[in-house]
Amino acid sequence: MKVLVINAGSSSLKYQLLDTGNQEVLAKGLCERIGIDGKFTYKAPGKGAVDAADVVMPTHSEAIQTVLNALVDPDHGVIASMSEIDAVGHRVVHGGETFANSVKIDDKVMAALDECIPLAPLHNPANITGIKACAAVMGPNVPQVAVFDTAFHQTIPPVAYTYALPYEYYEQDKVRRYGFHGTSHKYVSQRAADMLGKPIDSLKLISCHLGNGSSVTAIDGGKSVDTSMGFTPLAGVPMGTRSGDLDAGILEYIMNKHNLDITQMLNVLNKQSGVLGVSGVSSDFRDLSEAGESGNQRAALAVDMFNYSVKKLIGAYAAAMGGVDAIIFTAGVGENSAEQRMAIAGQLEFMGVKLDPDANNVRGKEAIISAIDSKVKVLLIPTNEELMIALDTAELA
Ligand code: AMP
Repeated sequence: MKVLVINAGSSSLKYQLLDTGNQEVLAKGLCERIGIDGKFTYKAPGKGAVDAADVVMPTHSEAIQTVLNALVDPDHGVIASMSEIDAVGHRVVHGGETFANSVKIDDKVMAALDECIPLAPLHNPANITGIKACAAVMGPNVPQVAVFDTAFHQTIPPVAYTYALPYEYYEQDKVRRYGFHGTSHKYVSQRAADMLGKPIDSLKLISCHLGNGSSVTAIDGGKSVDTSMGFTPLAGVPMGTRSGDLDAGILEYIMNKHNLDITQMLNVLNKQSGVLGVSGVSSDFRDLSEAGESGNQRAALAVDMFNYSVKKLIGAYAAAMGGVDAIIFTAGVGENSAEQRMAIAGQLEFMGVKLDPDANNVRGKEAIISAIDSKVKVLLIPTNEELMIALDTAELA
């Protein structure tokens, strides 16, 4: 089946055309500056590329049309006509408590997606716009599927998702831990079961998605049972620019001292904190490693803080599940930084985790990086959210 995977942002749209039969990426790229002017990037293995061409894209509909034109282009296209696209899969950030699984889109689903907007006011409207643009350009007969960042975490029990706030905030306002990166955690957990040759329902896994945004998830028997992000993706470990968890009392203190309103405070927490805030150098872990190696102590502290909080969560989730069979590293840092994997999992021998330094000297490909006699296996698994979205879409379309 040929599935077009769409990840629509407010002024951008990432796309991939995948063949779910052989799991091959036929073409992929990015529409940027939608509604401003328009930049279009396209790449098809063996068929050529379009590098950030200027294309007028007043709305997401023109962006989708541009993607379709490129896919059927006589020179660098990969399909003869649009009718070869069997279905479209959309990444949707927030499915609230309504969606515990991916879902085929119809009018009822669209109404339910609208109801989730208050939970993700920056992201869900863009995702909905992407769905409407596809329907407008491709017609009503091409099935569309929504795949949610939150859905995989809907199995988290109340003891882990309830905040210790007045209970009516949960009942009336839906304030609870939702968790994000669900598509990634689900994908790597399924790959882990394959790599270990064991049924997923027999495994206790801890998945560390460590990138610009980071989250750690406890997965028991294939089900998410706890995760570090919360009501929003601001929670959990410190990230590139996000603070992660902190004492809520700090907010009032800083707001009063620096005369900030809540919007300015949240801007600080989302955009100026995390490893960028602590280091004052960069939100990019490569820059921080370099700066740390040349003696910048705050850069080194920022990376150490990040590694330390991931390590703490591994301990917490092993306790929560009553054990752990495998720890998974994925996303930019998890897939590429042998040093950070070593810093996080290198001293956990007391709980049966023994990294093999040689096996750990690898990047960007699936590998078992624990020693042969390690009771707990440690796995490097490159994430592939687009493939997961395409597979869910093929199943439901
Ligand atoms: P992601 O959000 O998954 O794309 O991950 C982006 C993060 O991965 C950035 O902070 C990058 O610096 C980091 N990253 C990529 N390659 C490396 C590497 N070799 N060592 C450390 N961090 C890396």
